Amino acid sequence: MSLSSFLSTITRWLRRPTPQFDPAWESVLEREFDHWSLLDDAELERMRMLVARFVRENNWEAAQGMELTDDVKVVIAAQASMLLLGLDIDEFFDVTSVIVHRSTVRLSGTHRGAAGTVTSGTQHLAGQAHPKGPVLLSWSAVQRGARRPEHGSNVVYHEFAHRLDMLDGITDGTPPLGDPVAVARWVEVCTAAFERVQAGDSVLRGYAATNPAEFFAVSTELFFNRPCDLRDHEPALYAELQAFYGQDPALRMPCDTSRPVA
Ligand SMILES: [Zn+2]
Repeated sequence: MSLSSFLSTITRWLRRPTPQFDPAWESVLEREFDHWSLLDDAELERMRMLVARFVRENNWEAAQGMELTDDVKVVIAAQASMLLLGLDIDEFFDVTSVIVHRSTVRLSGTHRGAAGTVTSGTQHLAGQAHPKGPVLLSWSAVQRGARRPEHGSNVVYHEFAHRLDMLDGITDGTPPLGDPVAVARWVEVCTAAFERVQAGDSVLRGYAATNPAEFFAVSTELFFNRPCDLRDHEPALYAELQAFYGQDPALRMPCDTSRPVA
């Protein structure tokens, strides 16, 4: 690319219109995304900007006869944007497209997982994230995660946590933390919590024991969906996620402080 075409690309990018949050999306999110009503005014203001960007600036594709309405995009965008709410970045880089399947994501052949694991045959998945590629999501799983946080699972948090983990080029369960001391503490805390999942003695579901990348993705699901439980059972892990994500979801919840802490 010549210098002049590079400069004109940058100028076009800087001058691009700010995507607008459609006021009609507010009632969609109040109805479909449980966490929306827990956010304060300042959080909602940033979330509306992030949601508008995510909806307007991503490529969207439908699979399995899925009807890709604005409502569908907004529910996915809001959950993905929760991960960015307290970060200094406004987007997930290198996502080529978001591909929404109606029910499960069916894949056949040989596939490489987020942490380099290779599987073959037909797989039925709730979602999948490719490094520098698309994010695949099952709409039925997206809806369940958005409406029923008490179950803990959330495919959008899971797949976009993988995308944050991938930002430094290595999918190893450690997103970019910037500071070697913070990385050492993160690895120490996560390793201890990972070993508790392996031993079957954790509030995190067993899939977190697959590898450190899945551990981070599953921990992120619980951090946002059942923060009181994660804080009570894994306080050191909760503190690491709180510092990384720059938010404290348990403060938004009516946590039962009278419960004994395990
Ligand atoms: Zn995963």
